Amino acid sequence: MTSSSLPLSGKRALVTGGSRGIGAAIARRLAADGADVAITYEKSADVAEALAEEIRASGRKAAAIQADAGAVAGAQAAIDGAVAALGGLDILVNNAGIARMGDFADQPLQEIEAQLNVNVRGVMLTTQAALNHIPEGGRIITIGSNVGEKVPFGGITVYSATKSALESFTRSLARELGPRHVTVNLVRPGPVDTDMNPADGPMAASVLGFLALDRYGRPEEIAGAVAYLAGPEAGFITGTGIVIDGGANA
Ligand code: NDP
Repeated sequence: MTSSSLPLSGKRALVTGGSRGIGAAIARRLAADGADVAITYEKSADVAEALAEEIRASGRKAAAIQADAGAVAGAQAAIDGAVAALGGLDILVNNAGIARMGDFADQPLQEIEAQLNVNVRGVMLTTQAALNHIPEGGRIITIGSNVGEKVPFGGITVYSATKSALESFTRSLARELGPRHVTVNLVRPGPVDTDMNPADGPMAASVLGFLALDRYGRPEEIAGAVAYLAGPEAGFITGTGIVIDGGANA
């Protein structure tokens, strides 16, 4: 396939939290499908720049941008950086997210606020800033979670609430942006083997007990769904999304 016939050729994408885990897999996949890609990170400058270099070596434009999704200024910095590096923005992937486990009764205010700020406010402000640029036919894809719908265990009360908030955010915004032919969707992973939720971590045994399949998901399996929603075949999908959870919510 020539690069101009790839499904995302000519498209410009921003993936927040693209230095590691699911976000890095999404960035690689969008670039492989032909898009120019900017990623943001909070701390991992070396890893993020190495990924941008890898994408540039494949023939696409790429940029790594330091932008804290938990800070008000981080949202605008992410969008400004992506637009400056790529010349515009067609696809926004709100991926950056954090989880702070523990009993809700004892959860410090700082941890509650950090999760709300990155997982909810950051998504809202980044999306708002992106709307000044995203043209007709654009895509807004947010990474939610299967626990935004059903929560099979405790200890993730605030995290799951932040992911539930993204459900109605996605639905309402899809209705607002329908006339612009911009689609808005939520991808809801179950357990995926990353630094956030390692397949050999302390939670793994109990997590696996809730799945229909007997394994964790791979970041590439989430990236494939994001690429599909970003692509031309998904133009009639909006206000919904895809659950990729190994049957956790079956
Ligand atoms: P990781 O912890 O492995 O990676 C998180 C990524 O987000 C890193 O690139 C990190 O950057 C970035 N990030 C974290 N905080 C910020 C911030 N304040 N500003 C900018 N970037 C930030 O997470 P995953 O890949 O596992 O998760 C990605 C998304 O998928 C999250 O929204 C998560 O909630 C969701 N998800 C994950 C599941 C799982 O089982 N792994 C299941 C369901 C949903 P840096 O490297 O600089 O720290």
